[in-house]
Amino acid sequence: MAERDTARALVYAAENQWSAALDRGGVIDFFGSKLTLPQQKQFETIEDMQKYCNGVMVNEHVMSRYPSAGSVVVRARAGQRMAHYESASKTIAIPLSGTAGEPSWACRESVLLHELTHHLLFSSADPAAIAIAIHGSAFTTSMCWLVCEVLGSEAALVLQGAFQGSGVIVGAYVD
Ligand SMILES: [Zn+2]
Repeated sequence: MAERDTARALVYAAENQWSAALDRGGVIDFFGSKLTLPQQKQFETIEDMQKYCNGVMVNEHVMSRYPSAGSVVVRARAGQRMAHYESASKTIAIPLSGTAGEPSWACRESVLLHELTHHLLFSSADPAAIAIAIHGSAFTTSMCWLVCEVLGSEAALVLQGAFQGSGVIVGAYVD
C-alpha cells in the first residue's frame, strides 16, 4: 500500500498564507526583521501563464540545476477546484472560473511556482520515489529554491517560515 501524501494539507495551508502576503507585497515584519516582498503576478489567460512558465524554464540556473526538465504545457482544467501537475504529459492544469474561462484564484504566480516545482522534481528523480511523498521535504526544499531564484531571497525566506510554521520540513535550499 502506498503511503499517503500526508504533508499536502500542511503545504497548501502554508502556501495560502504566503500567497496572501504576496498579493499585498511590500514591507512585512518577519520575526522582528523588516522584509520587502514583491507583489506576485496574477494572470488573465492560459497563454499568459504559458509565457510565464516558458520564461522560468529558460532561466539559466533552472536549466543547469534541472537539465532534463524541458518545457511544460499549461492548460485549462474545467470544473475542478485544484491546480494539478501531470507528469506523464508534463502539463500544468489550472482551473478557470466560469464557462467563459475567467481567471480564478489559481491564476497566480504562487500556484504556478508550486506546479513548476513538481515539473522540475519529476524530471530529476525516479517518479515512483517522488510519488510516495509528492509534497515531502524534497518538494518544499526545491520550491524554496525556485522561489528564491524567481521572486528573490526574501520571498523564499517567508515561504520557508510558513512551511516551518505549519510543521513541514524544509531542507537547505540556498546553493
Ligand atoms: Zn502539488
